Amino acid sequence: MATKLVIIGGVAGGATAAARARRLDEHAEIIMFERGEHISFANCGLPYYISGVIENRDDLLLTNPVAFGDRYYVDVRVNCEVVGIDRLNKQVKVRNQLTGETFDESYDKLILAPGAEPLKPPIKGIDHESIFNLRNIPDSDRIKKFIDERQPRAAVIIGAGFIGLEMAEALVHRGIKTTVLEKLPQVMAPLDQEMAAIVHGHLKEKGVELDLENGVTGFTDKDGRLVVSTEKNQDLVCDLAILSVGVRPENRLAKEAGLALGERGGIKVDAAMRTSDPNIYAVGDAVEVKDLVTGLPTMTPLAGPANKQARIAADNAMGRLSTFSGTLGTAVVKVFDLTVASTGANEKSLNAKKVPYLTSYTHSNSHATYYPGAQWMSIKLLFSPSNGKVLGAQIVGQEGVDKRIDVLATAIYANMSVYDLEELELAYAPPYSSAKDPVNVAGFVAANMLKGDLDPIFWHELARYTQDDTILLDVRQVDELETAGKIEGARHIPLGELREWLDDLDRSKNYLVFCAIGYRGYLAYRLMSQRGFNVKSISGGYKTYLGSKEQMMKESPQTKLWLGE
Ligand code: FAD
Repeated sequence: MATKLVIIGGVAGGATAAARARRLDEHAEIIMFERGEHISFANCGLPYYISGVIENRDDLLLTNPVAFGDRYYVDVRVNCEVVGIDRLNKQVKVRNQLTGETFDESYDKLILAPGAEPLKPPIKGIDHESIFNLRNIPDSDRIKKFIDERQPRAAVIIGAGFIGLEMAEALVHRGIKTTVLEKLPQVMAPLDQEMAAIVHGHLKEKGVELDLENGVTGFTDKDGRLVVSTEKNQDLVCDLAILSVGVRPENRLAKEAGLALGERGGIKVDAAMRTSDPNIYAVGDAVEVKDLVTGLPTMTPLAGPANKQARIAADNAMGRLSTFSGTLGTAVVKVFDLTVASTGANEKSLNAKKVPYLTSYTHSNSHATYYPGAQWMSIKLLFSPSNGKVLGAQIVGQEGVDKRIDVLATAIYANMSVYDLEELELAYAPPYSSAKDPVNVAGFVAANMLKGDLDPIFWHELARYTQDDTILLDVRQVDELETAGKIEGARHIPLGELREWLDDLDRSKNYLVFCAIGYRGYLAYRLMSQRGFNVKSISGGYKTYLGSKEQMMKESPQTKLWLGE
């Protein structure tokens, strides 16, 4: 007898599962329920529609219920919310949103793809008409209409995650003065703080007011404008606020049906995407899956995992064995002119799970500098001190960040080490890369650390040294100090002159050397260590210093002395 498959949710996970199931089984009966009026739309494109970069609203609609139904022979029921699951009788209760009518639908196999909903904390005034969430097309219609009709002058974005920052860019693009309020000391939690600091600087350059370590305490209306009150006792007067403080899995149906949930509410699934009920599968933002680096449960509300899990759930529901190994949380986001990307673990997650790691920083050009248009990128690599296995990576830059993060995500997935990164043979021609690709360079530096060819320290470790016995040595050229800036507490000897000065240097002292990005610091380290000096090279050089400075000053007065502040 033909399998009857019912799917709840009709966007990334739901529509993918329906199409896959049909490809596998021409005879199955497939019904897809979607609460809203659209299916398979481009949630990821919504900020760009609001900004005006995507001009045509229809471009967000990848298909429509009729076309999808015809192509895949799927019974698509939009405006239909599933309100209950009766596991015993294998049926779902559905409410037609337009008529209010309810009915039951039986299933052999059920796939849950209900997604995640934006968090709406219980703050006074949160229901003010000028406060918006962004999840679907009607949300983006409301925001766009508000901007078009009311011509807001100022906006506050609450929460500096991916959606918050994409919306900051969108609103600035629309000529709106934008403030971003964030409770954490940094934007974008998947990044470590010094990498996020590069993004902070860029946001400020673009005119975004960034207010970190500050939360909202309430919203009030004042003469038709919105007042956002904050923990720092400010009253930010604006015309529009976007609430982007995170999402929570839509787990109500699963919970009420008694399916097992994880600690943070994600629906628990096995590698086949099967829930605690063997006839029910779940995918996407609503589920908890395995973190491939730590092996622990995690939730990754991203489109890539949702699509892949949906294929796997459909495979299994249709009788083909297929498994999902886990997630790396690989993500990329455009923040004005920057591309910001991460994959695998970061320092916070490794520390929390007590996983030992080393880090390296490299700053490379996107392609050969003699070919016009090369742009820098900063790469942070996290790897195992025992075997060099790559555990995580973060990249901030412009051109070519996306392809390097994908190489590194593939490396982590394939259990590669930093020694493999040294050897990877990556495509090169001057307009695209360098003969030593930025990924190779990151591998060289990390492998040098493991082989003992480089003894690095990190800027935040400066506080461990005192100026009595340690010299901070800047080996950049004179003109770089003038153009890029300098550290008042540092001694300056350009690398090319270092050998001449060695006899004048006090050998009883420790030397901490740095250059612009780390390479000349490494050369100075090799030179001085082989000539008997007690020397370390500061990872990532002056460029990483600029990202770390604010945090170091906050954390340690001793560092202030070093920096001559
Ligand atoms: P969804 O795509 O949210 O679909 C769930 C659907 O289920 C919803 O339409 C909902 O109405 C429906 N539903 C829920 N409950 C019921 C019910 N009881 N009955 C019937 N229907 C129901 N990810 C990226 O990887 N890259 C990006 O650049 C990116 N940008 C994003 C930008 C925005 C503004 C947003 C909101 C998300 C973005 N995402 C991005 C996240 C990505 O869209 C999600 O991870 C992905 O859509 C999750 O797929 P899903 O099927 O689990 O949930």
